[in-house]
Amino acid sequence: MSGGPVAVTILGPSGRMGRALLAAGNGRDDIRIAAALDRTNAVGVGEEVAPGVRSTTLIDAALAAAPVYIDFTAPAATTAVARAARDRRIAAVVGTTGLDAEAEAALAALAEVAPVVGAPNFSVGVNLLLGLVGAAARALDTSWDAEIVELHHRNKRDAPSGTALGLARAIAAARGQDLAEVGRFARQGDVGARPTGEIGAVAVRGGDVVGEHTAYFFGAGERIELTHRATDRAIFAHGALRAARWAVGRPPGRYDMLDVLGMR
Ligand code: NAD
Repeated sequence: MSGGPVAVTILGPSGRMGRALLAAGNGRDDIRIAAALDRTNAVGVGEEVAPGVRSTTLIDAALAAAPVYIDFTAPAATTAVARAARDRRIAAVVGTTGLDAEAEAALAALAEVAPVVGAPNFSVGVNLLLGLVGAAARALDTSWDAEIVELHHRNKRDAPSGTALGLARAIAAARGQDLAEVGRFARQGDVGARPTGEIGAVAVRGGDVVGEHTAYFFGAGERIELTHRATDRAIFAHGALRAARWAVGRPPGRYDMLDVLGMR
């Protein structure tokens, strides 16, 4: 894109990611925060979150302010805002994870008329990790046991993380497997020996961990560990803002961070 700053609507300005988006977006000359939409009763509604911009609960007013919005909220908000954005053909950048079928359907409907960039993780490093993990899985057969361990802060709601599921999908795709058949996201009690080809994912929760993911490939007598550690939410915010700039003016459809980074 060329020209002046791209106007962006931020959802959930009171949240962890919303605050990171405001911090990363304010003061940039290629982005202008044009509106901020929060849920009723959220902290700070009515307060100024960017120059001349007050956090609001009015969906239509917030969406009218910009050609693209960034959503790091919760599945119900993703659904409501995507539905409202469809009439206006507003582009969406969606980082919310743990989406239900309703939210997925609302995003699919929006993607018929506008570009929708969705990614479980907007960091450059994790998107590189996805490629590395896929390459490892392609090179190794299913006799190498694949397991993912993810760590997040104590307030994260969904498990395993969207990124862990993305890594599991990348492994399954590289090995020609269906994750719905081979994914194993909990073990307790007498679970028996590990079936060959299973792809496990384990969620650890505690403290203020921004996000860590390790993909293990266990062979006989050796193992590989590929790890990404996020230490600052700013990486997701910068990735999402980059995606917002990239999305404006694209044809309708679903895109992910690999499209934005030109890594396809
Ligand atoms: P959070 O709970 O700190 O913030 C959520 C925000 O959404 C709050 O401001 C809340 O008021 C707002 N919200 C809730 N319902 C709303 C509604 N109906 N309308 C408008 N706003 C509403 O959560 P967080 O840690 O910022 O994470 C938010 C989401 O982003 C989670 O799903 C998390 O997994 C995901 N996430 C994704 C990435 C990524 O790179 N894709 C990175 C970090 C977090």
